[in-house]
Amino acid sequence: MSETAKTLTPRLVKKLWLAFIVLVLLMGVSYITITGYFANMHHQETTQRLNAEVASHVIDEKFTNASPFLEDGSVNKPLFGDLMHDMMAVNRGIEVYLLDDKGSILYSVVLNPDDKDAKKSISLGPIQSFIADEGKNFILGDDPRNPEEQKIFSAAPYSVDGHNGFVYIVLAGEKFQEVSSTLLGQYFAKLGLGAFVLTMLFTVLIGLIAIWFLTKNLRLITGTVRRFNDGDLSARIENPEDSDISIFANSFNEMADTIVDNMDKMQSVDLLRRELIANVSHDLRTPLAILKGYVETLQMKRETLSEDEKQEYLQITHSNIDKLSKLINQLFEYSKLEAEQVVPVKEPFSITELSYDLIAKFKVLAQQKQIELEIENPQENSMVFADVSLVERALQNLIENAIKYTEPKGKVTLALQKKGKNIEINITDTGTGIPVNEQPFIFDRYKQVDESAKKQGSGLGLAIVKKIMELHDTTITVLSKPKEGSSFIFNLPAYQQG
Ligand code: ADP
Repeated sequence: MSETAKTLTPRLVKKLWLAFIVLVLLMGVSYITITGYFANMHHQETTQRLNAEVASHVIDEKFTNASPFLEDGSVNKPLFGDLMHDMMAVNRGIEVYLLDDKGSILYSVVLNPDDKDAKKSISLGPIQSFIADEGKNFILGDDPRNPEEQKIFSAAPYSVDGHNGFVYIVLAGEKFQEVSSTLLGQYFAKLGLGAFVLTMLFTVLIGLIAIWFLTKNLRLITGTVRRFNDGDLSARIENPEDSDISIFANSFNEMADTIVDNMDKMQSVDLLRRELIANVSHDLRTPLAILKGYVETLQMKRETLSEDEKQEYLQITHSNIDKLSKLINQLFEYSKLEAEQVVPVKEPFSITELSYDLIAKFKVLAQQKQIELEIENPQENSMVFADVSLVERALQNLIENAIKYTEPKGKVTLALQKKGKNIEINITDTGTGIPVNEQPFIFDRYKQVDESAKKQGSGLGLAIVKKIMELHDTTITVLSKPKEGSSFIFNLPAYQQG
């Protein structure tokens, strides 16, 4: 865990750096390519605009002074050759062609008659468009010397001695191309180098800041995880919602809370177990010691004891054996419930009938203590859906307690009442009541600290009741006032017949 935490940040930073550099390089290359393309276009368009009228000048100036055609209709090559040489001497980037009205090349000094690849005619489409919009729009036309390329040009129509055609001037001829590509290469190299150095500088700067910000939260989380790992259980990520990785931050905080909760639970369960063992050994030891004492007395003083005394001692022995066996049974029952070994077998049964049976069972005990024991609201036969033997056990413990903690002339009632989809069962007595500060703990066997109460019973009865309630997904409530009495109330789901 700590190893992962240690290596997490540097590895992530490395990846971020790599991604950043690749991104910047890609952007740089795209930037240079786009800039180069547009710079080139801009240059070509400027050149074309600037030289748009070159072709018509040639016609205006030269064709009026002398005809470029001889009497026999052939091209006046000396005249036209001079003209072309003059022009190309002034502007070395241009190449001049004389075309007929179909676009076929009549003459050009730049064309070598042996050049088989050279184009013999030029498409008229671009030329006509050029002439139509007077060279105001950027347009590319054929380059006879490089048939696969399109070039900027200037063109003008002529009509001399019955000959019609065009003067066609490639403005970015081979010479232009040569110079341009050398310069462009240098320009690209300079631009590339400049852009690279600058972008690298900015990359490092922005990268450092960006990665610092990006990993800030991660560092915070890693630090907190490490602190938690090192034993600081209170370590939590502050303001997890504000974090860029809030899901992670929240999950960590929740996980840490769960771990701490579970640890607390385990600690308290462990503490309670230890208390239980201490209590149980105390509970078992007392009746055993009493038993031992009386049995020893009976053994040693068998001769001197009167028959009545013997009878009394045997009676005490008997009741302590009863206590012991009851305690052991309850312990066994409770530990089975706590270990979740008891699976409730729920079925419909009449809680009214069960209550009558129990009242009948405890009638004698109640009479002995001069306590009135009765059922309230027994009008209808209430059916519930629950585990009959577990419910019987719970009711038995509650009635037993009610009788046990009620003085003679008191009253214990078991009331059944339909409440919505449930049947409410209420066992009320007019007994001693339970001090308010003890009420929250009476269902908790381990917490029982009242020594006087313990003397009267095992302290397991209500803990068993509580477990039974849990198995039925219900709870039990106690309402009690010292010296006035107590009510124990719980609900069971009513069984809907039909
Ligand atoms: P015990 O065997 O001691 O009765 P229980 O778990 O049944 O154990 O009860 C726990 C404690 O709750 C008792 O010791 C007693 O102090 C209190 N208690 C339970 N029922 C009543 C009641 N009906 N009236 C007064 N106190 C009661």
